[in-house]
Amino acid sequence: MSDRLIINLNDVPVYDITYNNTFDDLGTFLDGFNASDKKCLVVTDSKVASLYLDAILRVTKPKCKFLSYFIFPEGESSKNLNVVRDIYEKLILEKFDRHDFILALGGGVTGDMSGFTAATYLRGIDFIQVPTTLLADVDSSIGGKTGVDFDSYKNMVGAFHMPKLVYINYETIKTLDEDQFYSGMGEVVKSALIKDKEFFEWLEENIDLINARDKDALIHLIKCSNIVKKNVVEKDPTEKGDRALLNLGHTIGHAVEKYMNLKLLHGQCVHSGTVMASYISMKKGYISEEDHNRIINLCKSFGLPSLPKNIDIEKIIDFTKNDKKVDGGSIKFILLKGIGEAFITREVIDDDMRMALDYYISLN
Ligand code: NAD
Ligand code: ZN
Repeated sequence: MSDRLIINLNDVPVYDITYNNTFDDLGTFLDGFNASDKKCLVVTDSKVASLYLDAILRVTKPKCKFLSYFIFPEGESSKNLNVVRDIYEKLILEKFDRHDFILALGGGVTGDMSGFTAATYLRGIDFIQVPTTLLADVDSSIGGKTGVDFDSYKNMVGAFHMPKLVYINYETIKTLDEDQFYSGMGEVVKSALIKDKEFFEWLEENIDLINARDKDALIHLIKCSNIVKKNVVEKDPTEKGDRALLNLGHTIGHAVEKYMNLKLLHGQCVHSGTVMASYISMKKGYISEEDHNRIINLCKSFGLPSLPKNIDIEKIIDFTKNDKKVDGGSIKFILLKGIGEAFITREVIDDDMRMALDYYISLN
C-alpha cells in the first residue's frame, strides 16, 4: 500500500492522508502550501504539548510567516464552546486573516475542536490535522466532521470542514497509554466490521502483534481503517445516507459514554456498543452465533470494558433518544448482515436494546 491516500469529493482530490515516522515531511507540505505567506496557530492539549509541541514547532517555524500556539487542558471536558472562544480570541489578537491556518496537533478532541474553530473563524480558514492518538489516526482526523460538545450533549454543535492535509506520524502511538490505545482499537474493529471482512480476518490473525504495537501491524491497520472511511465518506460526505454506517456501535455506545460520565473512553464505549449491535443482529437472525462469537472474541482481545452490574438500563435507553441518530421519531440503528457488511435500519426498539444491555452486563 502506498504512503499516501487521497480523499476525493465529487471525483476531485481534496486532501491527502500521509503516513510518516517523523514530523519532518510536514515541512515539505508547508512549502507546497505557501505557508511562508501565512500565519499558523498550532492548537494542542496539555499532554500532547509536553510530548510533541517542540518537535512540531521546530519543523513548522522556519516554514511559516508567523507561528503561535494555543494549549488547552487535556480531555473531553475541554471540547466545548468556552475553549473555542479562547481560541477565537487568540486568533483575533494575533490578527489571523482568511489566508492563515490552524494546525491541530493531538487526538480527536483537538482535531474536532480545532476543525470547528477553523470552520467558523472568519467563515472558514484552512486547517491541517496532525493526529497523535490511534483513534484520531484511524477515524476522527478523516472525513471533515468537526464540532464540540454542548453541556452533556456530545458533538451537538459542529460543521463539516475538510482539512487540507492529514499528516499521520504513527510513531506517536508509542506513547499512548493502554486505555487510549484500546479506545482506538474500538474504531478499528468497527471499521473492519462495516465493510472489510478480509481486514477483520487479518485482525483475528494478528492480535498478538497488534497488542505488542508492532510497527508494521499498526501501519496496516491504520491504512485499512482509513480505506474503509475513505470509501464511505467519499460517497456521502455530509451523512445524508450511507455515512451513517460509520455509527456502528455508536447509538448504545454514546449512551453508555454519557451514562458513565467520561469514566470510559469513547472507543471503549464503541467497543461495547459494537458487541451489543452484533448481539441484536444475531437475535434478529441476520448473523450466525458463530460470527457473533468471533466478533466478541476479537473485541475481548482488545480490551472490552465491563459495565457495573447495577447499571441503570432504562437511563441508558433514554440517553439513546438524545442521540443525533434519532430522526422522525425512530432510531437509526446500524446492524450487521455479516462480518464486513453493515446496514442501516429503523427496526431496533427499546426491548432489543434492553436485551442487549442485559446480555452485555452478564459478560463481565
Ligand atoms: P483525546 O484527543 O482526548 O486524546 C486522548 C488522550 O490521549 C488525551 O489525554 C491526550 O492528551 C492524550 N494523547 C494524545 N496523543 C497522545 C500521545 N501520542 N501519547 C500520549 N498521550 C496522548 O481523545 P481521542 O480518543 O483521540 O478522541 C476522542 C474524540 O474524538 C471524542 O471527542 C470523539 O467524539 C471524537 N471523534 C470524532 C470523530 C470525527 O469523525 N470527527 C470520530 C470519532 C471520534
Ligand atoms: Zn467514534
